[in-house]
Amino acid sequence: MKQAVMTAPGIITFQDVPVPEPGPAQLLLRIRRIGVCGSDIHVNHGLHPYTKYPVVQGHEVSATVERTGQGVSGFDPGDLVTFMPQVYCGTCLPCRTGNYHICDNLKVMGFQTTGAASEYLAIAADKCLKLPPKISLEAGAMIEPMAVAVHALGRLGDVKGLRLVVYGAGPIGNLVAQCALGLGAADVLITDTSEHRLGIAKACGIRHCVNPATSDLEVAIQAAFGPDRADAALECVGVEATMTQAIMFARKGSIIVVVGVFGDKPKVDLGLVQDRELQLRGTLMYRREDYAKAIELLVSNSVRLEALMSAHFPFDHYAEAYRYIDSNRDKTMKVFIDF
Ligand SMILES: [Zn+2]
Ligand SMILES: [Zn+2]
Repeated sequence: MKQAVMTAPGIITFQDVPVPEPGPAQLLLRIRRIGVCGSDIHVNHGLHPYTKYPVVQGHEVSATVERTGQGVSGFDPGDLVTFMPQVYCGTCLPCRTGNYHICDNLKVMGFQTTGAASEYLAIAADKCLKLPPKISLEAGAMIEPMAVAVHALGRLGDVKGLRLVVYGAGPIGNLVAQCALGLGAADVLITDTSEHRLGIAKACGIRHCVNPATSDLEVAIQAAFGPDRADAALECVGVEATMTQAIMFARKGSIIVVVGVFGDKPKVDLGLVQDRELQLRGTLMYRREDYAKAIELLVSNSVRLEALMSAHFPFDHYAEAYRYIDSNRDKTMKVFIDF
């Protein structure tokens, strides 16, 4: 079978490897779609701090079960599935207390260990989740980023009735905003400096879409939510400017979830965090229950994913997907590799 290997930043070669045998408790998956995400793009540019080359990418996946290994129950050939790409140790303190998503020895498929960029993949059945057949292959591959959003929202506890500001209307910010509403948030204001991304957010049903480059964000937040402003905020960009806004415009005593991945170290006013009793909370990936909730949100039609599906490239043209992304920067939301 064909396997795509990134041998150096920006260089993808194909190698011929044997189709793996599913071991006991494993499934052999036939890969159908891979979604390309921001972290993959960092790897393509040589800017991902925790990835070495060569690397087989692919962690946002929909696949069909080709064959089941010994002792597998609950899956049949032909089932549509996605999987959780975390590889964790099971013995460290976070793992022992149910927080395997922040395992001390965490590895993620497609970054520190082999991802799904091949025609077939053998993987533990207990990492796989069955998807209802009516879900599209693209939506199946978007369960992973949706689970990121659901987990980030979970860092606020129950979001029912909350009014939220989401900084950044890229794929993750958009999904955070949509999942928030799907989980019962009262209202969401989303920001971005890209009118294109704000237009997509609007099309996805986000009521307040604000460009802080052209309008006063503080005024916009008060206009949307009144003088008490938002109950909480989620920073989904990972740059100094938005983190600064999140801190400046937060209601006293409120929580800011730090979702964005920071390339450069931001310089922010921790004096305000102290003085206003703000709480900064990190979030990393997801647990199984976040995947389950993401699937529920999809099945109940609580999110609109079509507007986020930007382009498709055949597996043979994997590298072209990255060239497309680089030359269509903020016009691109989710690009898929088709098998
Ligand atoms: Zn991703
Ligand atoms: Zn661990």
